[in-house]
Amino acid sequence: MSQRDYYEVLGVSRNATEDELKKAYRKLAMKYHPDHNPGDAEAEQKFKEAAEAYDVLRDENKRARYDRFGFAGMHDGGGGFNSADDIFSHFGDIFGDLFGFSMHSSQQAARGADLRYNLTISFEQAAKGDKVTLTIPRHATCPDCNGSGAAKGTRPETCRHCNGSGQVRRSQGFFQIAMPCPVCHGQGKVIVKPCPCCKGEGVVVDSHKLEVTIPAGVDTGTRLRVRGEGETGMRGGQPGDLYVIINVKEDPRFERHGADLLHVLEISFVQAALGAKTSVPGLDGDIPLDIPKGTQSGDILRIPEEGMPTPGHSRRGTLLIRVQVKTPTHLTAKQEELLREFEKLGEENFVEKTQKTFKKLFGMKD
Ligand SMILES: [Zn+2]
Ligand SMILES: [Zn+2]
Repeated sequence: MSQRDYYEVLGVSRNATEDELKKAYRKLAMKYHPDHNPGDAEAEQKFKEAAEAYDVLRDENKRARYDRFGFAGMHDGGGGFNSADDIFSHFGDIFGDLFGFSMHSSQQAARGADLRYNLTISFEQAAKGDKVTLTIPRHATCPDCNGSGAAKGTRPETCRHCNGSGQVRRSQGFFQIAMPCPVCHGQGKVIVKPCPCCKGEGVVVDSHKLEVTIPAGVDTGTRLRVRGEGETGMRGGQPGDLYVIINVKEDPRFERHGADLLHVLEISFVQAALGAKTSVPGLDGDIPLDIPKGTQSGDILRIPEEGMPTPGHSRRGTLLIRVQVKTPTHLTAKQEELLREFEKLGEENFVEKTQKTFKKLFGMKD
């Protein structure tokens, strides 16, 4: 039987990356998996073919040999699977999550699951950093039965259905598919008398307190990883990690743009025209600010190093002040009179001068 080119089988280019190969293979394995195509000999063939191609191309040495010599370079047993068991045990890690059950022996140690904790903090906490004590519910090994799930004085017994292997095999044409045993759920053992403390689960939910350091400058969506604080591992496996997902409350005074902060400052048209000394809110208290003469509405004044800190850096962002000039709406008779007088001062070039002045005063655009 003539063989199809491995790259063609997987539908990838000759310089496909490891990741592209894996993706392509997973797609094909899913499509042609015997569970999805019962009794379809062609699908079986394609399933096998894809496994063989992937087995060669994912191995750097085999791939180099194949690129150079083609199938002739594969004579020493590169590729070729006799049964589905071969394929499953070969790519166990890929099939594990692909088909929803692990091909690893159920007796092996398993790493605990990662935990996610959503934490809302104040704007101030985000700016300054803080230490926060979290109460984390998690599963822990049952102290009464030490995780066996069996009541005191009893022990789990070997499952008779699967003879303790935790797996049952189902034939599907050419293939034999290993499934977790339905009686012991892959554990290989059954509990005759369940532990009353954990109801036979072997785990109990306990909450524990954990202090987490929030670095200054975190933002909404920042993910802090706390190693080893996730779920307890099974059968001596490593614990998972805890991920703290940060949500920062807004501060009405500031609009945040990464490390930069924007504050909108309202000033009078007189302050805008003549300049003024004022102050703006900062993260460490009020900051004095000089409004230059002739400031326009919409002008941005910059105060460097008064923005948010950046985690892991000593530099801080910029505090941006957007000036908004307020046009008075209720003038007294005296104020109106003064403004008219002011208007007259420009009589020589009346039109030009007034336009210019008022554009400045009221922040109008040209
Ligand atoms: Zn069983
Ligand atoms: Zn227990």
